[in-house]
Amino acid sequence: MSTHHVQRMSRLMAKTLREDPADAETLSHRLLVRAGYVRRSSAGVWTWLPLGKKVLDNVSRIVREEMDAIGAQEVLLPALLPKEPYEVSGRWSEYGDLLFRLKDRKGADYLLGPTHEEIFTLVVKDQCTSYKDLPVMLYQIQTKYRDEARPRSGVLRGREFQMKDSYSFDVSDEGLAESYRLHREAYVRIFERLGLDHRIVSAVSGAMGGSASEEFLAPAGAGEDTFVDCPSCDYAANTEAVTFALKPVEGGAHPALEEIPTPDTPTIETLAAHLGVPASATLKNLMVKVDGEITAVGVPGDREVDLGKLGEHLAPAVVELVTAEDFADRPDLVRGYVGPQGLEKVRYLADPRVAPGTAWVTGANKADTHARNVVCGRDFEVDRYLDVVVVEPGDPCPACGAGLKLDRAIEIGHIFQLGRKYADAFGLDVLGKEGKPVRVTMGSYGIGVSRAVAALAEQTADERGLRWPAAVAPADVHVVAAGKAVPLALAEEAAAALAAAGRRVLLDDRPGLSPGVKLTDAELIGVPWILVAGRRSAEGVVELQDRAAGTREELPLAEALGRVG
Ligand code: ATP
Ligand code: MG
Ligand code: MG
Ligand code: MG
Repeated sequence: MSTHHVQRMSRLMAKTLREDPADAETLSHRLLVRAGYVRRSSAGVWTWLPLGKKVLDNVSRIVREEMDAIGAQEVLLPALLPKEPYEVSGRWSEYGDLLFRLKDRKGADYLLGPTHEEIFTLVVKDQCTSYKDLPVMLYQIQTKYRDEARPRSGVLRGREFQMKDSYSFDVSDEGLAESYRLHREAYVRIFERLGLDHRIVSAVSGAMGGSASEEFLAPAGAGEDTFVDCPSCDYAANTEAVTFALKPVEGGAHPALEEIPTPDTPTIETLAAHLGVPASATLKNLMVKVDGEITAVGVPGDREVDLGKLGEHLAPAVVELVTAEDFADRPDLVRGYVGPQGLEKVRYLADPRVAPGTAWVTGANKADTHARNVVCGRDFEVDRYLDVVVVEPGDPCPACGAGLKLDRAIEIGHIFQLGRKYADAFGLDVLGKEGKPVRVTMGSYGIGVSRAVAALAEQTADERGLRWPAAVAPADVHVVAAGKAVPLALAEEAAAALAAAGRRVLLDDRPGLSPGVKLTDAELIGVPWILVAGRRSAEGVVELQDRAAGTREELPLAEALGRVG
């Protein structure tokens, strides 16, 4: 047992605020700022003050312990990365505006790493030559950079944030499945230890590419993800994974539809050539960016989208591929999107926040016409499902038929079986048992370490303030000297005894503050136990508050110490 020092509030750099920050939309954002855990530096970029840094470190420690326990080895790669590997993988262009790009003094292109598949692949290519060197699992806890379109909700969605990212390298598919299983189980243990309520759902791979992928979602109203959840079996999926094509409802257009004539609709071949993607796929809706604006193209009546002439017709406009990322802020859009494998998906994201009639979707109900103000169901119906068959609350569960629920959640972790996508791109082979080169297969696994802090705050806080689970709290006990002289002396005694017993103690020894102010601050800061030396200090009686349960009780100091020890 180690003796901790007592952290005195009189010395602590944590200025609490009574007012919510003006731009704060979510509970965690408001409370983490008001309780003095974090301060905004610039949009989506945050400073972690002492209390916040302690919570962040506690999360990192738990993540590190569980990663070490499955045999993953910790490394630290640079965040400042050269362009070339990302050109090899295609992500230099695929990531678009999401990448922070910069040039060195010689004019060479660099980026700040948003995720590190390319670089880990190169490290393993350099270090591992034989099948005997594999399997290997590597991880880092590192600062990541993404120029998010809408950084919001404090540290929930930063442009600079902490991620634990790990990567597995195996020679066989069975090996990859095993590395994936180990990570999945480690993630369950991590989120259990953190005290985060979570669900595992099937997910799309997005810009990562690859096949199997699951997300760990922390249910919370502030979350930006919507997932479907079956009340009677264990089926759950992110609605991002829900994909289907639409066709117009029979009986004509609704009066609210705004029709936009689109004569001379282009053809697939020419657009595909223009965009450099395969022309084999067909779509009923396609979104691209035209001069930076997301725009729907094609959709002439019931014909398949005719993408091809678009490039010609829009010239000299800049036509770029959109990715799932571009839709982060537009859950109400019908999505046709061009993924890394070419033209892939049409998506409609059912979102309970979007009231019927307000959805801004684009589709077509007539030849050579686009339509705005489309309401799904009223104007269009599902033509064919391309992926998972789930859209609205009450829809039948694809696994058991029961009525599905839709909920909001925060994505806290994401695991992928990447397969050989990056190994192919970088020629990552090792010498196999038979002496021939074998292509390596990979997995990648992320946890939003800084996001987990906010997710925990979202799930546990009340209107008085934060309420940390013991495992991540910045201290075990918050001792409050509610008065001078005798109460202060008793508080000092309590703090010293607790520290000697190995507890992490925060002591409110600030002079000249009323007990009321100190208690309000203690509840805001949210340490699991609040021990108050107040009016009955002369009798040796203190008040003990269980912050999570909300219960308080007066009892002799010795008993209180036993309770929290
Ligand atoms: P989101 O859908 O929220 O944008 P993502 O799917 O783009 O996240 P991944 O590429 O899967 O994120 O990254 C792995 C993990 O990193 C995510 O599960 C999430 O917990 C965390 N993360 C991603 N983007 C951010 C961000 N901008 N701020 C904080 N954490 C993030
Ligand atoms: Mg993202
Ligand atoms: Mg996501
Ligand atoms: Mg993800």
